[in-house]
Amino acid sequence: MSEILEVKNLKKYFTKNGKTVKSVDDISFDLYKGETLGIVGESGSGKSTLARTIAKLTDATDGEIYFKDENILKYNKKQTKEYRKELQMIFQDPYSSLNPRMRCFEIIAEPLKNLTNLSKEEIEKKVLDAALMSGLSEYHLNRYPYEFSGGQRQRIGIARSLVVEPQIVIADEPTSALDVSIQAQIINLLEDLKKSLGLTSIFISHDLAVVEHISDRVAVMYLGEIVEMAAADKIFNNPLHPYTKVLISSIPAKHPFEKKERIALKVEVPSGTEKFEGCKFAKRCPYAQDICFSKKPELENKKDEHCVRCHFAE
Ligand code: SF4
Repeated sequence: MSEILEVKNLKKYFTKNGKTVKSVDDISFDLYKGETLGIVGESGSGKSTLARTIAKLTDATDGEIYFKDENILKYNKKQTKEYRKELQMIFQDPYSSLNPRMRCFEIIAEPLKNLTNLSKEEIEKKVLDAALMSGLSEYHLNRYPYEFSGGQRQRIGIARSLVVEPQIVIADEPTSALDVSIQAQIINLLEDLKKSLGLTSIFISHDLAVVEHISDRVAVMYLGEIVEMAAADKIFNNPLHPYTKVLISSIPAKHPFEKKERIALKVEVPSGTEKFEGCKFAKRCPYAQDICFSKKPELENKKDEHCVRCHFAE
């Protein structure tokens, strides 16, 4: 598979009460054409900031992001506009991301009007195609967001993202605000669209069961760093990093007779402003040794592209 996006040493720092929060702390990875990369982690792990930085919705502090061999972080306004056509986001809360005063048609058409020079007729056709593809009907296009259910509003969000025919879609917790019964419908829709359109996607979620279902590869984030990255089956069947093991132990059993032992963590998540000499997970890790507090582990390829950041993972 060929890379469509290359993220190199990406950093996004914020200042909070005079201290630095390393929300994205030196992250590197490749995104391959046609794959779905799941990104998991607790809230505060930096996964949404990573997504927003890749989408150029917020400026990076440092690093490089290559798309078609060009560093998008160096793009000017015009190039950024072109890039927005190629990479679109689907957001968590479909209601707050949709303008309540616009009809469904205008909401879906907005990116086409902002990013292309298409005629009125071409826009009408593309909006209808995107709406139908996303499971909406033609009569929905005249309605306002408040007239839709949560699941339908997320379908509008998906249609709006797909209408410009992007190559990459980043879905940031796209099902978290929805009822469980509706979540499955949206996941199935995203899977169908991935197959029919050959989309490349990054799927961000704190819900591991959803990520397992939809992802080809998975990256696990902890306090701004990737701590483990591998094919989805390796992450879920043979997790190597202690933090991944904890996350996976918290997924509810699939079968009523299956026994799962939940691994408990020592302390609460450290604040984002805490400074670390060694492993960021050391204070919480059940397997921490002295070296973990003084030497920072690197993300290493242990075997067959199964990368882990831990001194003791084999
Ligand atoms: Fe735990 Fe040490 Fe591995 Fe960090 S490096 S995850 S503290 S065993």
